Amino acid sequence: MVDAGPPGKFREYVGEIKAGGFDPKSIRKIVITHYHPDHLGNASGYFKLGIEQILIHAEDSDVLTGARPVPRGKGTVGAALSFVFDRYLFRFEPVADVKTLREDESVDSAGRWKVLRTAGHTPGSCSLYNEAEKVLICGDALNTRMNRLTGPSPLFTADTRRAWESVRKLAALEIETLACGHGHPIPSGADRRLRDLVGEI
Ligand SMILES: [Zn+2]
Ligand SMILES: [Zn+2]
Repeated sequence: MVDAGPPGKFREYVGEIKAGGFDPKSIRKIVITHYHPDHLGNASGYFKLGIEQILIHAEDSDVLTGARPVPRGKGTVGAALSFVFDRYLFRFEPVADVKTLREDESVDSAGRWKVLRTAGHTPGSCSLYNEAEKVLICGDALNTRMNRLTGPSPLFTADTRRAWESVRKLAALEIETLACGHGHPIPSGADRRLRDLVGEI
């Protein structure tokens, strides 16, 4: 499974997994794409269910383990939203025991998924790429909004220049299907749209 969703949604998500015909306890690994709580919020629920392979890049892992707070968004608006998220919406229970996700390693579970470092949105942001199926799961390195492919959210991106370098790196791949952290997935022809996006900047 990739990402654990926002805190407080655990029962709902487990219900969805069961409704899809799967046993949540049969999940072998959970890859967390980056440290934002809307992606790691329920990790502790899955850990308590017995899923011990929770993987995240070393540069983002100390947020998940609770060793440091979630870095704030940018400017007054970003900081104010972060305050509300931390206090009310996205309070999460940390997971003390996480495994480190390494660049270029292969996470072999439900196919062969290569870990690509897509730093910038957060320092340890990672994407998963299935070369055989031409599928990319990119966390918040990219998003879709109203059927448009966009770059990472400016308010919550730690290093915008680096984030766009990562987008350019992804644009060199053959990608048919793209699943972003926010917005609907692109089922086919995603690399063409990604190259168009890179051409615009
Ligand atoms: Zn994010
Ligand atoms: Zn997100």
